[in-house]
Amino acid sequence: MSLAIFGITNSGLNLVATLFVLMLVVLWLALIVYTYLDARRRISDPFLVACATVASFFPFIGTAVYAIVRPPEFLEDAHERELEIKAAELRVRQLKELTCPNCEYPVEKNFLRCPNCQRRLKDPCPTCGKPVDPRWGLCPYCETALGGGGERARRPQKQERRPTFRERREERAGTRCSERGVKPRTRAKEPQP
Ligand SMILES: [Zn+2]
Ligand SMILES: [Zn+2]
Repeated sequence: MSLAIFGITNSGLNLVATLFVLMLVVLWLALIVYTYLDARRRISDPFLVACATVASFFPFIGTAVYAIVRPPEFLEDAHERELEIKAAELRVRQLKELTCPNCEYPVEKNFLRCPNCQRRLKDPCPTCGKPVDPRWGLCPYCETALGGGGERARRPQKQERRPTFRERREERAGTRCSERGVKPRTRAKEPQP
């Protein structure tokens, strides 16, 4: 073995130096593999994973820089956290729906009135008697159309419009004009003979 590293001629020291360099090379390769696998678990964009891997080819420094700037959590952890947040939101919404909108006393789905403040929560269906929400236009149990139901049906029906004060006055003025034989200025109806 005549490979002299760092100009060392002593064969014993030379062996130690060779092993040291070999160890560094193995560590470097391991860091490249580690960077690639770690980046794949943390970064969804394949281009960025490739960038991190290429950077780790720069011995040791590349991996050190990657370890500083990498995303703080694994993709699957982030996904799990999102699911947990969604589940928690759903639970909160269900809890809210099951409280009285007036006093927030806990009520059950089929309560007709709040036991605490006695506010009406649901009406009994006139056909099947099941509790139905007053906003519903139809009983979901027996398909009976509910009279006051639906946001649209709640609005008052368009009624026969009563003439306003001004229209009535103009009509009277038109009547007077026609009595005098003057053509009325307004479009008010001519009095019937
Ligand atoms: Zn209440
Ligand atoms: Zn019904």
